[in-house]
Amino acid sequence: MRAEAKVSIVKCPSYSPSNLEKAFEQVCTNAGFPDVKGKKVLLKPNVLSDSSISDSITTNPELVRLAIRHCKANGAAEVWVGDSPGMQGKDFRPQKCGIWDICTEEGASWADFTADPDLVTIESTGTKIPMASAVRKADVVIGLCKMKNHQLMYTTGAVKNFFGTIPGLHKSQCHMHFPSREKFAELLVGIHETVKPDFSIMDAVVAMEGPGPANGSPRSVGLLLASDNDYALDTAQALIMGYDPNDIPVLAQARKKGLVPQKISYMDLDAGDCVIKDFVRIPYRKRTQFFSKLVLPFATRFLERKKRAKEARPVFGSDKCICCLKCVQICPAHALSFSKEDKRIVADYSKCIRCYCCHEMCPADAIKVENN
Ligand code: SF4
Ligand code: SF4
Repeated sequence: MRAEAKVSIVKCPSYSPSNLEKAFEQVCTNAGFPDVKGKKVLLKPNVLSDSSISDSITTNPELVRLAIRHCKANGAAEVWVGDSPGMQGKDFRPQKCGIWDICTEEGASWADFTADPDLVTIESTGTKIPMASAVRKADVVIGLCKMKNHQLMYTTGAVKNFFGTIPGLHKSQCHMHFPSREKFAELLVGIHETVKPDFSIMDAVVAMEGPGPANGSPRSVGLLLASDNDYALDTAQALIMGYDPNDIPVLAQARKKGLVPQKISYMDLDAGDCVIKDFVRIPYRKRTQFFSKLVLPFATRFLERKKRAKEARPVFGSDKCICCLKCVQICPAHALSFSKEDKRIVADYSKCIRCYCCHEMCPADAIKVENN
């Protein structure tokens, strides 16, 4: 276990170049930006779906611009930018969110994560899974994550950002093999430990509250964060959003493996002084001791499914639905179909594993996650 990690948190009231540049320089200096001289650098923003900047779903492109410039100014040999949304088609370009234009303007290359991925083994789970070959080819990997709620994992952030290195629809299959929050968190930690990123910068200038990671509301937080330890960074994020870090499944799994540093030193601002009390969080569902300690070890798949059935479920509204069928395509449990007669999505909740991939991918905000 690493004894101590540093997290830098500074105020950044807007994405105006002067505000962002000042905050960027400060977090990079104080949190220890890695040496990139002569190296190939992969920057990994969060491009969950290629959406408008104002939706606050993706990392702000101006942060990507500064990161590219910073790497070049510090002598990087090459700078690549890459991510892979769940429904990525051939030749995907992140144009709507502005990141493609930034790459072109700043002379960085877009790394297509679906092209020729490596088959890697996630040691902690023994899973063989495709992963973007850019991860292996890069000398330095830097996350450019976004502060957001996440319906399944409560928060997204630094560790989960690297789930995007798994190309396209391979991600939704992971939910089938790791259906519970705890198991999925174990996989995310395993993927993170395979990527072994060097540094992450978190865009919390405008975060997302409510039903994230795609259908929540932008929330002005006015902060930029950075660390060379993603578990420390996600701990700071959880505190600021008003969660107990112990309740965040990724951090709980990482703690079990001794990956969360014993002490976090805050440079600049302290996360405890930045807590947003009225941040609209995902309601936490506590696992009972009885279930986790006594029943679960003997539980059959049937019991696990029954447990999942009690979780909030996706509800499909027909008024906003544009019949794109993205939810049907991404659903790893084949729980969705389209009724041509009624022109609406029909869910078979007995198959649904509550992964919320459909909710993440819906471009029309036509799916709500509601308690049964
Ligand atoms: S219906 Fe939605 S939440 Fe249920 S398994 Fe399919 S994608 Fe996941
Ligand atoms: S993804 Fe959303 S808009 Fe598209 S078919 Fe499903 S519910 Fe309708």
